[in-house]
Amino acid sequence: KKRVVSGVQPTGSVHLGNYLGAIKNWISLQDTYETLFFIVDLHAITLPYDASELSKDTKKTAALYLACGVDTSKASVFVQSHVRAHVELMWLLSSATPIGWLNRMIQFKEKSLKGDENVGVALLTYPVLMASDILLYQSDFVPVGEDQKQHLELTRELAERVNFLYGGRKWKKRGGKGGALFKVPEALIPPAGARVMSLTDGLSKMSKSAPSDQSRINLLDPKEVIANKIKRCKTDSFPGLEFDNPERPECNNLLSIYQLITGRTKEEVTLECRDMNWGTFKANLTDALIDHLHPIQVIFWIWPYNSTETLLAFLLFGFIRLRNLVFLIILTTAALAIYHS
Ligand code: ATP
Ligand code: MG
Repeated sequence: KKRVVSGVQPTGSVHLGNYLGAIKNWISLQDTYETLFFIVDLHAITLPYDASELSKDTKKTAALYLACGVDTSKASVFVQSHVRAHVELMWLLSSATPIGWLNRMIQFKEKSLKGDENVGVALLTYPVLMASDILLYQSDFVPVGEDQKQHLELTRELAERVNFLYGGRKWKKRGGKGGALFKVPEALIPPAGARVMSLTDGLSKMSKSAPSDQSRINLLDPKEVIANKIKRCKTDSFPGLEFDNPERPECNNLLSIYQLITGRTKEEVTLECRDMNWGTFKANLTDALIDHLHPIQVIFWIWPYNSTETLLAFLLFGFIRLRNLVFLIILTTAALAIYHS
């Protein structure tokens, strides 16, 4: 079986971009491939973090994987830092990585705030750890969003470089098997949903580390929060709604989100929405988002990832059930009373 690996950082909240760009696609791969999905906590410490929050977020992210449909009887789910080999291989790969390759990385340039000397070294070397996450398991495919394309290309180049330097004949002479040391992996970037954009700016990607929570829909956002975020999200004053107009990035983004969560085709959404006004569309989008995320949220809240939360959930459900039982007893008694009278 071909092998698939992927992961999400446990920083802040998992959002619609992570879901549509990565997690949702993992589910369909579980049956066909050998799948490994991990929570990449070591990547989450490249920016300032709070240790106790990180620990909670790691469990929360794992619970969300399961709530979204990752099935542990098919996929391996684990925490990256629990497997020391990720960091060990990273060190070995670092010594084969030209620094120029890392300086070119767009995400480093974006996150390092242009030459700030206080930025951690790990922000620069992060892609080497990502390469290690992938190459360690001799992975065939890596389902990720568009933003990871460059990092995946670096992983492939690194695998080829190590294979060239240490694999092949040289490796064989030293007692190795010959051939490639590392399998060169391929990115699986979905045709739609690979780049979900911010709700407040259609030109930047939806991101966990963006300071404003208004810019993203988190998978665990309550109904009212989703409604409020959609109500306040950026739109434009063109007539009607359309895909692919470069002057309307927000419109394209919101239509694409609608298309993906309703499971319709682009043509169906175009037909449905071309003469719609923003008010009607926003109401439809809000309903669709709430409907789609509801089952994920329900499963998440009853998953025993944290004892306090679980206890509360059980108490709540217990209360609801108890109330239903009382109603049932009253109804049955009333029915019996009527029947006998
Ligand atoms: P950060 O801002 O801290 O980097 P993030 O939102 O980019 O967080 P990651 O944990 O880095 O989240 O990414 C997890 C997965 O989600 C990756 O496969 C990434 O490509 C994908 N992803 C992230 N943001 C988006 C997005 N806006 N649209 C589609 N896919 C995305
Ligand atoms: Mg990211």
